[in-house]
Amino acid sequence: MKFAAALLLSSAAMICAPSAFAATPDVVVSIKPIHSLVASVMKGVAEPKLIVEGAASPHTYNMRPSNAAALQNADLIFWVGHGMEAFLEKPLEALGSKATVVTLEDAPGLTKLKFREGGVFEPEAEEGHDHGHGHNHGAGEDHADGEDDGDHDHEGNDVHLWLDPMNAKAMTAEIEKQLVQADAEHAAIYQKNAAELMGKLDALDTDLKAELSPIKDKPFIVFHDAYQYFEHRYGVKVAGSITVSPETMPGAERVKEIHQKVEDLGATCVFAEPQFEPKLVKVVTEGSKAKSGVLDPEAGALKEGPELYFDMMRGLATSLKTCLSQ
Ligand SMILES: [Zn+2]
Repeated sequence: MKFAAALLLSSAAMICAPSAFAATPDVVVSIKPIHSLVASVMKGVAEPKLIVEGAASPHTYNMRPSNAAALQNADLIFWVGHGMEAFLEKPLEALGSKATVVTLEDAPGLTKLKFREGGVFEPEAEEGHDHGHGHNHGAGEDHADGEDDGDHDHEGNDVHLWLDPMNAKAMTAEIEKQLVQADAEHAAIYQKNAAELMGKLDALDTDLKAELSPIKDKPFIVFHDAYQYFEHRYGVKVAGSITVSPETMPGAERVKEIHQKVEDLGATCVFAEPQFEPKLVKVVTEGSKAKSGVLDPEAGALKEGPELYFDMMRGLATSLKTCLSQ
């Protein structure tokens, strides 16, 4: 009896501090596309917090004090992995053991592709991290330089895993599992939401296949090499990227090379991204018949939330179709 009374008292005390009382876990997600999937699965229960907000790029992100506080208070943290959100690696290590950290690149059932190398996907020779893997996204900044043969970024896989809706489904299954584990009370809601989300991802995939089939073999240039999963899924043809790793701007040699590539390919499209310098695209297309467009593979220009993933994927398809059908 005394024990029950004490329990009652302590729960009453916790009502004053809602976050401590809440039965729902405090969930933090690194980047917008993943946040969108988590927000879908958590619909009707709570909203997950987002680290890389607004127009910021995950490749050049600096942690804010509010981000550190969010991580500190989190019960569950979702991120892709250190090849993607390199800025999170140290803060997550420093966190201690309170939160469960879910590395989604380790989710079962993902299709993974190697970073590509060769031709216009080759990193610039004058860059430091230029061997072994094409696109290290800043991973391994704090690893010894003699050891960067790709081992630190999980066999040198491309980390833009979410750009294939089937990978998004695999991530959704992992997100559901982790939420159910952390918050059994709302298991039925998480399971229902996840099933609905997977159905929507299948429908999206069917739509995108139909929408993109007319532009399948038209080559185009992208700003950074983020699109392999999208290309692999829908058969669209990226002929090169302006920059290999978006934290370092391309040098004059590379810009010249891409400019040449644009000319060699004939009239095509060169796509900028909202987070990065659009002037480069102008330079690359100057004097050619190439058109320019914008692709947003990390959803910098989109409003966060459950619908973001779908807006982002449909946005990619629309931009490609609009520019390449001209
Ligand atoms: Zn990227």
